[in-house]
Parts: sequence; C-alpha cells; structure tokens
Amino acid sequence: AVAKRFNSVVILTIPGTERTSLATSVTGIMGLQTKLNTTLLVTATGADASAALSELIAAIEAGLGEDVNQTTQADDNEFPEEPPLLSLDDATGNSLKGVKAAPGIAVGTLEYRHKELPSFPEQGININDETAQLNYAVSQTKKSLQQLVEKLAQDKLATQAEVFSAHLELLEDPAIINTAHANIQQGLSAAAAWHRAYSAEVKTLAAVESPLLRARASDIEDVGYRVMCNLLGIDDQTQSVAKNTVLVMKDITPSEVVSLDRENVVGIITTGGGSTSHAAILAGSLNIPYLVNVSESITKQAAGTRVILNANKGTVVLNPSDEDVVAFNNLQQALRDQLAQAKLDANKPAITTDGTVIEVAANVGSVDDAIAAEQAGADGIGLVRSEFLYLDRVSEPSLEEQTKVYQGILSGIGAQRSCIIRTLDVGGDKPLAYLPMAAEENPFLGERGIRVGLNRPHILRKQVRAIMNAASAGKPRIMFPMIASLEEFRAAKQLVLEEQKLADVTAIEIGIMIEVPSAALLADQFAKEVDFFSIGTNDLTQYTLAMDRGHPKLAAQVDALHPAVLRLIATTAKASVAQGKWTGICGSIASDVSAVPILIGLGVTELSASIPMLALVKEKVRSLDLADCRRLAQAALSKGTAAEVRALLD
Ligand code: PEP
Ligand code: MG
Repeated sequence: AVAKRFNSVVILTIPGTERTSLATSVTGIMGLQTKLNTTLLVTATGADASAALSELIAAIEAGLGEDVNQTTQADDNEFPEEPPLLSLDDATGNSLKGVKAAPGIAVGTLEYRHKELPSFPEQGININDETAQLNYAVSQTKKSLQQLVEKLAQDKLATQAEVFSAHLELLEDPAIINTAHANIQQGLSAAAAWHRAYSAEVKTLAAVESPLLRARASDIEDVGYRVMCNLLGIDDQTQSVAKNTVLVMKDITPSEVVSLDRENVVGIITTGGGSTSHAAILAGSLNIPYLVNVSESITKQAAGTRVILNANKGTVVLNPSDEDVVAFNNLQQALRDQLAQAKLDANKPAITTDGTVIEVAANVGSVDDAIAAEQAGADGIGLVRSEFLYLDRVSEPSLEEQTKVYQGILSGIGAQRSCIIRTLDVGGDKPLAYLPMAAEENPFLGERGIRVGLNRPHILRKQVRAIMNAASAGKPRIMFPMIASLEEFRAAKQLVLEEQKLADVTAIEIGIMIEVPSAALLADQFAKEVDFFSIGTNDLTQYTLAMDRGHPKLAAQVDALHPAVLRLIATTAKASVAQGKWTGICGSIASDVSAVPILIGLGVTELSASIPMLALVKEKVRSLDLADCRRLAQAALSKGTAAEVRALLD
C-alpha cells in the first residue's frame, strides 16, 4: 500500500538470494518469506524514487503495522532443528547412508546440479545491450535444445525427444518473450526481465484448475531456467560433465534422468526423492546407480570430491583411500564378471536346483524396451507400463497409433512369449497431460489406476480395442492396475470380454495387480475370477504402511520386505495356488537379487524385473532350492521389522 502511493517501480530483494518482488505485489511479498531481522534491499526507479525509498524503509523498520516486540517473542517459539527419534543412521565416519533407488556401484567425483540461481542485477545498463543479451541467450538455448532433441532421437528415445521439442516451441511463446522485452524497455536487466516474464507465467499456470495447463508450468520453468543459465553464464544441466561424475541433486525428474550425459554420469545421489519414484525406475532401466535420501551434509563436500557410491548397500564413501578404491575396483570387476557369466546363460530358463521353473520376465515402457528385453533374455514381459507410452502426449493417441505400439511390443519380445499389458495406470504421481482431471486432495487415494478407466470407459475401451487389434502379433495378457474391489474387476473384465467378442479374438488371460491391501486380503475371492495375480510391491508397500512411496523422509522405511507386506504376498500366492492360478511380482523388489529367495519361498512363480537385472535374477534363481526358500520365507514371516528380515538375508 505504501509503494502504491508512488509512481516509481519499487523492488524488494533479499540480498544473496533470488527472492525478489515488486513492493506492490502481495503474493510476491509473501514469496519473500521474510522473518524478523531479515535484511531487505529496497530499490526504486522513477521520478519520485528517493521519496518512495525513504517512506518505504521507514515503514518497514517500524514493523509495517505489527508490534515488533511481540513478534520477537513469537519468533523465540520457533521449533528448533533437532534430530528425529526414528531416522536413517546418518554420517558414520567418512560414509553417508541413503536408500537404493537403482542398483549398482560406481567410483567417481561429485558434481552438483543446483536449480537455485545466483543473484543477478535487477536494473539494466543499456536497453540495446540487454536486448542483445537476451536474444543471444534464447538462441543459444534453442541450439542446445535442438542438439538434445537430435541426440534423444538418435538414442531412440523418441517420446523424450518430443518433450524437448515442445520446450523449443515455448521459446517462441510471445507471452513470455514479449513480456521479457517489455521488461527490458522498462529498465530491467536481461536476466531480471526474463526471470520475471517466465516466472509470472509459471505462477499463473501453477495455480490454474486444469491439470493440462498445470503440467505446462514445470515445462516453462525448465525452459526459463535454461535461458537463465545462458544469461548468467552457468552450466546448464544438459551440458556435458567430466568423466566418472556422480551427480548430486536435491531431486531429479524423469526427463532429467533421460537427458543425462550417460557416457560420463556414473551415478546419481539426491538428498530428496523416493526409491520407487518413476525417475528411479528410469535410472534402473538405464543402468545408472541411484541413491536417494542422502543427508544434506553431502552438499558440503567440495565439487570434485572422490566418492564410492554403492547403491546396493545404500552407502556413499567420501574421500576413499587408494586401497579402498582398489578394493572397490576389484569388487566392481567381480560384479562385471558375474554379470558377464550370468549373461552367457541369460537366454536359458531359470530353474531352481530342485527343478522348479520360475518365469523371469521384464518390465518395459516402450517398443525399444521390449526389443532390449528380448535381447537380454527375458522369458516374457511381466509388465508393460502402458502409461509411459503416452505420458508426454498432449492429445489422446488414436486407435491406430495405440495398435501399432502394442504390435511393436508384442513382436519385440517375440510372438511366442507372454506379454502382460497393464491398462493405463494414471493419476497419483502420474498425471496424463491429455486427460483433464480435477485436482484432488489425496491423489494417491483418488481417481487413480483402474478407477480412471472405469469412470471414463471410452479411454479404457479404446486401449483394450487396440490390444485386441494387435493380439495376432504375439501373446498378450491384460492386467488392471490398483484393483481394490471385486466390483471394479468385474466391470473392467466385462468391458474386455465385450471387446474380445467384437474382435473375435481367442480368449486373452485377464489378471489384476495386487497393489491395495484389500485385494491381497480378498485374494481367495479374486482367485476364483482372475487368471493371474501380479503384485505391485511399490504400491502395495505404500498402501500397507500408509507411507508415500515418493516421500524423501520416509524412503528408508518404505521397504517391500516389511513383514506386513510379506504376509500379504504370502496370502495372495496361497490363494492363487488353491484355485490353480499363479502369482508374479512386478514391483521393484523383483529386481532385488537378494530378495529373490524369500519371494520364491512365499510361492511366487514369476518375477518381472528391470531389463539390466534379468540375467542376475535368473542366475540367482538357479542357485536356489525351493525347500530352503520356503524355510527362509517362513522365518521372514515371523519377524517384526523389515530390518530383521534383511538381516536374515545377510
Ligand atoms: C507397483 O506399484 O509395484 C508397480 C509395479 O506399478 P507402478 O510402479 O508403475 O506404480
Ligand atoms: Mg503401481
């Protein structure tokens, strides 16, 4: 209100941060997050600038209408930072702990990726120079995006390439470009002008109701950030990194994972993130070791610090000695040898020493994955995450397009091998850009998985029709995600039967994912009506423990080997056998080689793993005896905590 009395443009900044706001913007001021004793830099530009400055500074110092003494008292009541009673055992000597999100080990040097921008001048010096700077930065960004699109296309990551093509278009968007130039005309620096222009768009879009538009906010943020990097002369994330880099970030998005410089990045560490997030799943599929929820103290290490990242054990060793590195290199070589050995037999079936056949299938998200799975020795496909095919689409794929993709996947894995296609599993942390869905207070408990298909049958029907049209290319099975009740299953099955009849296709097996405790507890009822179960341990663990699978603070506890989850797996497997059906697992625990004996011992006969782990999972199965596995599983079921179960495996 004080600032509005003047004609000058008054800007508040917190020095040393990027937090800045027009003094006339209430939301901007809230975003500054000032507390008592925060120092504010006040700048004014205009004819009445000095009067504006002195009045505003006086008003701020007087407390802006609040009783400063009382506030001091309130401030004293702030909650202190204290260690939680239950947490990850953190820094021990020179090693930090984290939670495995993608397996593997690596030695490398730390490099940081900060999304935070350094401070930049608000005021421009010369309109022409600022304009030229902005134009140059935008054109450089276009060039690097163009290169990225080409590289992704070469790497056969077409869907990801599309995301960045869309980013290129955003750089032409007049709403941002014109506003930025207008900001320069008003005296702002190129950086401030651009930053303000795209941030305003992000803010507006992030608040709108439509998820389609909301999803674009992060795209604009991404592009805006790239241009800022060019303006401020900082490395942007797509530029190449030094050899053997272990990247440290607060969190990483799926699109950031796929645009990593995969020749040089040997590992990822995040201080946030969840171990079964979709970024984690992609890192696993690209064979990049990834550790989440590592203590913030890692960010205090200098860039270039040598580390040993052992995602399998959940540790990062800082500044290892030369002997440690030698020992590590030996371990890595042994693992490579083991993998090479396992790969020799990858095409052979996985049979335990007593003759039990375990089907080791692959989790895939694209036609290329299906081809890679076949080459890696998969016995089939245990999970097609069909939503991955369309996550970045802005319009619904046509029936023909969908049919073509399923034909590609079915023939990719081979016509004789079974391929379980899961119907669209959107909602929760996977919004589908082309599908408008209202914002929900609890998206993981809302319209998610099969519920979307049941509420919008046209979408489910089109997908099922495409699968029927593609059926002659291979051996498809259909599976519904997140089934919680028999009614849901029956309704979805009815639709499949109708389409099957229409297409005159021979019976396709229909199964469900066991991801919700109610489905596991009622498995005896479901087993009478389904052809198979596939346990989605990522979600089953989340819903059993009531812990968000992507929550950074809970990541260490969201463990599929929790005995409560194991009991649900046992219940499910037992119920399927009683009806002559079978149970598989397609959650991330199926890719955890050390967990294999327990899973088999619980009665699971199919494991659907990430492609890089297939050979090792098969090799593990071949080393096991079913009776031993059953004894181990019984022992695990009698334990009270996940840690006790893991101790059994050790
Ligand atoms: C799961 O929940 O375990 C699963 C396999 O499905 P998604 O990870 O795609 O939710
Ligand atoms: Mg799931």
